[in-house]
Amino acid sequence: MLLDVVGADAIVLPWRICYIRAHCADDAHLRAHEHEHFRQIAHDGALKFSLLYLWYGLRYGYRQNPYERAARINCGEDACTAGDLAEPRLARLLRTP
Ligand SMILES: [Zn+2]
Repeated sequence: MLLDVVGADAIVLPWRICYIRAHCADDAHLRAHEHEHFRQIAHDGALKFSLLYLWYGLRYGYRQNPYERAARINCGEDACTAGDLAEPRLARLLRTP
């Protein structure tokens, strides 16, 4: 199964399909995080999102991937810092109040 391959509880694919483990289906935080990826795909388009997500993953790793950082910030998992706002790759993905 795809989730086992990537070692995740959920994954959003560029064609806007989300796979989530059954035991996580009611996890509001996880659902909010995955919803942020849907928003990112709508924002950037599937091709740009896919290519940049892969590039960022290679360049920065999973935790520091700007798409992942923006998703964590936008759904309240992480606080937004001045440094985040000063980083163009990340700032463009952050929700404005
Ligand atoms: Zn994510």
